[in-house]
Amino acid sequence: MDIRYNVINWVHRATRGWSYGSSVTDPRTGEIIKGHVTLGSLRLRQDYLLSEGLMAPYEDGTTVPDDMRELALARLRQLVAHEIGHTIGLPHNYISSAQGRASVMDYPHPMMKIRSDGTLDWSQAYDDAIGEWDKVAVNYAYRDFTTGTNEDRELGKILSDAWNRGLWFITDQDARPLGSVHPQAHLWDNGENAVDQLDHLMKVRGIALTNFGEANIRDGAPFSSLEEVLVPLYLHHRYQLEAAAKVLAGLEFRYAVRGDGQPGITIVDPEEQRRALSALLNTVTPQALAIPENVLSLIPPRAFGYPRTRETFNAHTGVAFDALAAAETASGLTTLHHLMRLAANKAASHQVRAVATLKIGELRKWLSQQDRRQRNERQLAHIRYGGQLIDRFIDDPSTVTVPAPVEPPAGSPIGMGEDDWCGWNGN
Ligand SMILES: [Zn+2]
Repeated sequence: MDIRYNVINWVHRATRGWSYGSSVTDPRTGEIIKGHVTLGSLRLRQDYLLSEGLMAPYEDGTTVPDDMRELALARLRQLVAHEIGHTIGLPHNYISSAQGRASVMDYPHPMMKIRSDGTLDWSQAYDDAIGEWDKVAVNYAYRDFTTGTNEDRELGKILSDAWNRGLWFITDQDARPLGSVHPQAHLWDNGENAVDQLDHLMKVRGIALTNFGEANIRDGAPFSSLEEVLVPLYLHHRYQLEAAAKVLAGLEFRYAVRGDGQPGITIVDPEEQRRALSALLNTVTPQALAIPENVLSLIPPRAFGYPRTRETFNAHTGVAFDALAAAETASGLTTLHHLMRLAANKAASHQVRAVATLKIGELRKWLSQQDRRQRNERQLAHIRYGGQLIDRFIDDPSTVTVPAPVEPPAGSPIGMGEDDWCGWNGN
């Protein structure tokens, strides 16, 4: 509470959660007097969980490999820099990951590379320094000019020099998944192009799923705890998927003001939008959704004393691992239910609802054709069920309760909805 000291509080709590960077300011001048960071220690456990899924690190049973510890510490360094960034007045810059990791004020996703021999390389997972945009922002906010300098002109020059180097700023309102349209600014994403990166992440996920087995948990851990390790791996692409979804109907723009010479708005090229759609659909193919048989045979029902938590999948099968719920979770972000919800959504424009309704009708016709041709009973059951859902929906959308797919387990630190968003300075 002492106004004279800037502090970083290392906080332990029951579950993982956001960290915070806040400051005390002089209300008369806006001057920042004191910085105060609250850093959640459980982030480290989460980073271990992510690494355990990707690395299958416990070859010899219990030893935590150096590179796994290094990865967690690298993430922690980024987090500390991020929160301190908030205390000195910096907001999020979510386009930085598309501009060569230009800011610690982005939310970083581990950047995994694939070596030529098909193994995963996590040596560059997190950056080890502050970014080029951070230097621009501090230079702009804190630069002292000598007497007689034309301050407005010099400040303008700091920004235009940054733009010329391919660095600019896009923040929360244009990056969070609901309601934003910028095709390059997202949370927990990587790379210049969201579509390419989604394809890449699906490959990374595929490699790690193929390697998944006993070495993903320590000696002495119940086999049922493999599920906790599997969750972040199986949903490894969940945020990049949101990024690729925003390329659909995406709108590129800058925070331009009159006279600054920045470019105007551009609608994302239709061809790129189709590429995004195709990448999204690739995440819900049976091949992408199936959990390897050898993994399924390893995961028993929950062990005594280890009940389901928000770190596990929501299941239809009680204590037993539910492979179909996992697939339902991953595909629920993309499919028929959402199309019907869109067609019935009173908040959507009539034109959008009309197109969604048209496409549902086309899908119904296609299902009827498949019904006549399909010989596989399980496929046929699925086709008929989908058709019946659509028929009821078309008869009277208001009376159909679209069965929502099971909710995904908790995502970025907690919760999934906007309600759980803890404020602009959380991470
Ligand atoms: Zn933040």
